[in-house]
Amino acid sequence: MDMKKNDTFTVTIEDMSDDGAGIGKQDGYIWFIKDTVIGDKVEARVMKTKKSYGFARLEKVLEPSPGRVKPLCPVARQCGGCQLQAMSYKEQLKFKENKVYNNLVRVGKLEGLSRVEEEGAEDKDCPGAVFLPVMGMENPWRYRNKAQFPIGADKNGNIVTGFYAGRTHVIIPQEDCLLGVEENREILRLIKDFMERFHIRPYDEAGHSGLVRHVLIRKGFRTGELMVCLVINGHILPHQEELVEGLRNIHGMTSISLSVNTERTNVIMGQELIHVFGPGYITDFIGDVKYQISPLSFYQVNPAQTEKLYRTALEYAGLTGEEVVWDLYCGIGTISLFLARKARKVFGVEIVSQAVDDARQNARINGIENVEFFLGRAEEVLPREYEKNGIRADVVVVDPPRKGCDEKCLDTIVKMGPERVVYVSCDSATLARDVRYLCDRGYEVRKVRCCDMFCLTGHVETCVLLSQQHIDDYIRVSVDLEPEDVTPGRNDSYL
Ligand code: SAH
Repeated sequence: MDMKKNDTFTVTIEDMSDDGAGIGKQDGYIWFIKDTVIGDKVEARVMKTKKSYGFARLEKVLEPSPGRVKPLCPVARQCGGCQLQAMSYKEQLKFKENKVYNNLVRVGKLEGLSRVEEEGAEDKDCPGAVFLPVMGMENPWRYRNKAQFPIGADKNGNIVTGFYAGRTHVIIPQEDCLLGVEENREILRLIKDFMERFHIRPYDEAGHSGLVRHVLIRKGFRTGELMVCLVINGHILPHQEELVEGLRNIHGMTSISLSVNTERTNVIMGQELIHVFGPGYITDFIGDVKYQISPLSFYQVNPAQTEKLYRTALEYAGLTGEEVVWDLYCGIGTISLFLARKARKVFGVEIVSQAVDDARQNARINGIENVEFFLGRAEEVLPREYEKNGIRADVVVVDPPRKGCDEKCLDTIVKMGPERVVYVSCDSATLARDVRYLCDRGYEVRKVRCCDMFCLTGHVETCVLLSQQHIDDYIRVSVDLEPEDVTPGRNDSYL
């Protein structure tokens, strides 16, 4: 490859990287080009080159792919938040399914994973592992219940809100993100007017001066309740009652608060909260479980898809009311509480103490008594409880962060030998690695189903059901082995 920075070239996009950049090849050299779609023929400009791959910028689409659409958002390319806006929604779903399927087959070395077209088909046609159709959204826009807007000033000193241009702290003015709720626009306009009227300055990062840093807006999609939290570089917002007066007229406004963040930091929220209107939280539901969400709580950003994903996890857990279930990496207990109504007992494990407090509180407000939450690392709590206290599990659910499960955690799951493991994952590469680990130790994959929680971005969630490889199944597939060569499944009770 003998091109240098700023040279232009023509290439056809053949594939897509995991983060949604198009991939084109020239004599074995690989180009990553953002904002392109598989099937596009494009002119691109070299940005950076390495030995076997390089990054280029899309200059012009010469021949558009049939899967290409015009991005709806005027700042889609500058913002970079939605990597897949140039792809039709149907193509996006296909891309995500393929990504997960390929990782499971290539990294996870899963054999015989059959793709089925319709629900229910799996039971009659496919005795082995099935890959079910992705759960998409009917309308993949305005699905986010949470938005955080930075507040700053433009060259002329005018107050601006919008988004940081990809990987920078330059604010692109854009008050209506198409993934967020319509109310965002009105709330931001009100806040800007208020600041202008009372000469309240936006925060200036370089000088660590000015007052208003960010606005956090959340909406309970089921309840319609709205929350606004202003992050300020100080303890007092002058004339706050005027702002409250304006905001509370917006339909659904339930909670208004200030978050004090006087540090020089990229972290958005400060730890101190001052509630200036309402109870300090909003309420929402996932399924029939109620949640109180404060400005600092973790809460899933796409509640409609979260419900679909957790219903799938619940279905895969196959509960009858008698089971002991462990929900590892439980966050605020969303899955735990979902399962608790159908299980004998649910134990949750989570590393963030605020999340555990929220999980306990959520159990309380729902009157759910058969759950218990442990604060700590899954890879420490589970072995400890297993070795010292002899705890057991019929079903283990895991929903780890991107890096996947710690090996010690997986190893303890194998030792405990639950009948089923339900793996909820936001990163199919680590999912594939962990699934391989379990499959080498007595489990087999039964079902895989993706869920499009973060439409228009490159991310995808997946729910996998693994169950014990029963000795009967094993003998069936190992008929030509001598009986003593047959390695039993992990759980000796099957012998
Ligand atoms: N199921 C949860 C969200 C899971 S996100 C829900 O719906 O609310 C992953 C969670 O794992 C985060 O809450 C994170 O704080 C937690 N976590 C990360 N590493 C962990 C570890 N080693 N042990 C336990 N929890 C961990």
